[in-house]
Amino acid sequence: MCNLIHEAHQHSLSRRGLLAGAATLGASALISGLGASGASAAVSTAQKNAAASRDRTRLVLLGTAGGPMTWMAPHNGPDRTRHGIATALVVGDKFYLIDCGMGVAHQLRLAELGKDGDFAGFEGLSSIFLTHLHSDHTMDYFNVVLAGWYHGLPGPEPVQVFGPGRRGSLPPIHGTGNVEIINPENPTPGTVDMTEYLIQAYATDINDRMRDSRKPHIRNLVNANDIMIPHHVQANANSRPAPAMDPFIVMEDDRVRVSATLVDHGAVFPAYAFRFDTEDGSVVFSGDTAPSENLIKMAQGTDILIHEVIDADWVNALYGEPPYTEEEQGFIQHLLLSHTTIEQVGPVAEAAGAKSLVLSHVAPGNNPRQRWKKAQAGYSGKLIIGEDLMEINVRTRART
Ligand SMILES: [Zn+2]
Ligand SMILES: [Zn+2]
Repeated sequence: MCNLIHEAHQHSLSRRGLLAGAATLGASALISGLGASGASAAVSTAQKNAAASRDRTRLVLLGTAGGPMTWMAPHNGPDRTRHGIATALVVGDKFYLIDCGMGVAHQLRLAELGKDGDFAGFEGLSSIFLTHLHSDHTMDYFNVVLAGWYHGLPGPEPVQVFGPGRRGSLPPIHGTGNVEIINPENPTPGTVDMTEYLIQAYATDINDRMRDSRKPHIRNLVNANDIMIPHHVQANANSRPAPAMDPFIVMEDDRVRVSATLVDHGAVFPAYAFRFDTEDGSVVFSGDTAPSENLIKMAQGTDILIHEVIDADWVNALYGEPPYTEEEQGFIQHLLLSHTTIEQVGPVAEAAGAKSLVLSHVAPGNNPRQRWKKAQAGYSGKLIIGEDLMEINVRTRART
């Protein structure tokens, strides 16, 4: 089945020379999954133009918090709640969801990206992209599917989900002692596995709704795909999680071309950053990463770079003065070595030549804005401090 995607993708590539920067990208669609129906639907130019002119291409920041929790920031104003990380890229009457942190389904309804009405709202959802499988990026993924069943899904095609494949081996144990292995027959499941497990976990509900309520088949709602790392990259979960590489193409349809590269997120592997190229401009999503040369390479000249950021002062003050317990030490180490600090993010955006830098997945989520403004240091472009439900225009070129 993955050949179907590959062939459709190749056809699409040869059909169109659409996007800026495409020549620098690898040419393989590297996806495996449960089967897929058409990642690439051909539409006429007239249809495409009509669809694109109805709605502008824009980003909607659904959730901007770093970490697994929703954050309140009352000193920033009563509406400054930050939900878990999730972003929608709206292109015409479709949208693409990047990460599914806490509250994504709730925020999608508030963002009003679809039709009005009690049983609508998600019908424009085309694909979901998961940067990595940390729970703060995935914990409400299946909420989108289950809520979507009653709010506009399924559309004509299942929502295509693209995310990391299996890690392949367990990470080393931090500190001393043994740790029980969860699900030992498959301890590091990927996106396809996770989706299958979730479908199984909800089988009572799903069978009830398919039989008693005669809802459409769950397979018509969602189809998961593991993003496969190109073989020549020779990445390794524990020794080479993010070797120097060229970006590679994950998916292309009539509106976007999506590329990926491996980034450095500590023990989490694979961890991806994504680049979306559209006719209106380009957007790069860092996912979670320490400063990454792979990301800088992929993001060259991008219109918008959405980058995670962490406040190192906050991390260093978390547990007071050392000595720390093993758990505390492990957590501090993860935060500082697997993420990008306020001082580091500006130079990353500068090296990428990004026209705008949007801070999202900010940790802590209740930091005063003044702290985030310091990310301007070392960056000559436009700095935007992301907030929940903020909309950002992607269009940068006049239409012809
Ligand atoms: Zn995260
Ligand atoms: Zn993470």
